[in-house]
Amino acid sequence: MIRSNLLSHLAGYVNDQWIAADTGKRMDVFNPATGEKLADVPFMGAAETRRAIASAKHALLTVSDAATRRHWLEVTRDALLEHQEEIGRILCLEHGKPWKEAQGEVQYAASFFDYYAGLVETATAPETLPDKFKGCTWTLYKRPVGVVGLITPWNFPIAMIAKKIAPALAAGCPSVIKPAPDTPLTMIAMFQIMAQTLDLPKGMINLVIGDAVQIGSELMDSPDVTMVSFTGSTATGRLLMQQAVKHVKRLGLELGGNAPFIVLDDADLDGAADGLMINKFRGAGQTCVCANRVYVQKKVYDAFAKKITERVSKLKVGDGMKEGTDIGPLINVNGFAKVKGHLADALDKGATLLTGSRPDALDATRGLFFTPTVIGGVDDTMRCCHEETFGPLIPLIPFDDDEEVIRRANDTEFGLAAYVFGKSQTRAHHIIARLHFGHCAFNTGTGPAAIAPFGGMLSSGLGREGGLEGLMEYMETQTVPDGSH
Ligand code: NAP
Repeated sequence: MIRSNLLSHLAGYVNDQWIAADTGKRMDVFNPATGEKLADVPFMGAAETRRAIASAKHALLTVSDAATRRHWLEVTRDALLEHQEEIGRILCLEHGKPWKEAQGEVQYAASFFDYYAGLVETATAPETLPDKFKGCTWTLYKRPVGVVGLITPWNFPIAMIAKKIAPALAAGCPSVIKPAPDTPLTMIAMFQIMAQTLDLPKGMINLVIGDAVQIGSELMDSPDVTMVSFTGSTATGRLLMQQAVKHVKRLGLELGGNAPFIVLDDADLDGAADGLMINKFRGAGQTCVCANRVYVQKKVYDAFAKKITERVSKLKVGDGMKEGTDIGPLINVNGFAKVKGHLADALDKGATLLTGSRPDALDATRGLFFTPTVIGGVDDTMRCCHEETFGPLIPLIPFDDDEEVIRRANDTEFGLAAYVFGKSQTRAHHIIARLHFGHCAFNTGTGPAAIAPFGGMLSSGLGREGGLEGLMEYMETQTVPDGSH
């Protein structure tokens, strides 16, 4: 069992009270590295969600000025950094990612509070526009959209909520938050910190843990929730879109990916291999932005395959809490089975195993550690090319020329992230301009940052998180033409 001074309440948080489920029902949270039970938390449903929405609606009556909202953000940033080590430890235990990565995720989360603290006063100030045709002055006010529902996945237990709650607080939106059942403890720790350090209006932040269908339906059915921001699978995102119709609810959707990683024949191959290692193995390959398909131009295919195989074969898989671990376990047996299925399918269809385990040697009942794997000679008929693998599997796909790789990279319903490695900026940017992905990195495997708007095209989602756009998602513009002078 986990012991932490940040987990004094293994509970939900509604109307400034720590609460249990009305039914008394609880669910267990496990350490994916050891299988040990870490804690149990309430399993809530519709009734608690309704009360959370009512309390958030009440909080909307207190209008806090931009300087106050900036202060909330600064205090949260400082508190997260002050407690970084302990939050990171909780995160490491319930998610399984290596200690250093978990610590880095807390810093990344804090960067969203920092960024929006710096932006909130200027970005939300009213703007006036003289209108010489109508003879009046327009004032453009930025208003909070209202109560927001925030639903997050398990793969970044604190970063995914930070991207939402920082701009929601900056905008003045009260929230009802539902975390993923695999990783609710980091969220509880964040709530404890915020409840202790911030003087928020009562009901400004609410935490409901439990039944996704009941909580989701309440958030979507309620006319009092004006926006829902969701990060997770495209399948769930589609369902939320259908449910949003009734109240024409505003949606922010950060959904699945199928990122192409393109290595051109003029690329620095060591740079590309290093970039792929950083990009692919964060969170054991369980990130929406990581390379899913690696296209390598034929002229450099063998050389690149050798470099990446050498690097991957040196990775150390183990418990994220242990020193020297590069890659932790996968989150659960379903995730494990999916990656194993993609590997088996590719090998059955003719791919070759360059490093890693054969599928029959991978057994989730012996632990959720999946050997990092590279397969060569992959083609687009294989599942790993058209489904998101979400695990430490690198499929190498040879290609001939730029036109071909642009067509094949774009041959997916997803449009989240893409990567191009090459020497010629002109050539790479010509390719990038024709890729339908929201995040297209050149000669770096880096993912998103607080300062830049990030989001998907096509079935990868709606809207942006981060940057000014990420704040405006939580604001409505109200226009006031004034003809009195
Ligand atoms: P998921 O199954 O869609 O779940 C995400 C969250 O939605 C969980 O909290 C889940 O709760 C909840 N949920 C499920 N059904 C719901 C419903 N009917 N109504 C309301 N909420 C519901 O996704 P996941 O497997 O946890 O996450 C992995 C996916 O997230 C991948 O596809 C990945 O690419 C994507 N992702 C995208 C981004 C991005 O920025 N675009 C970032 C991270 C992850 P339960 O688990 O309790 O059902």
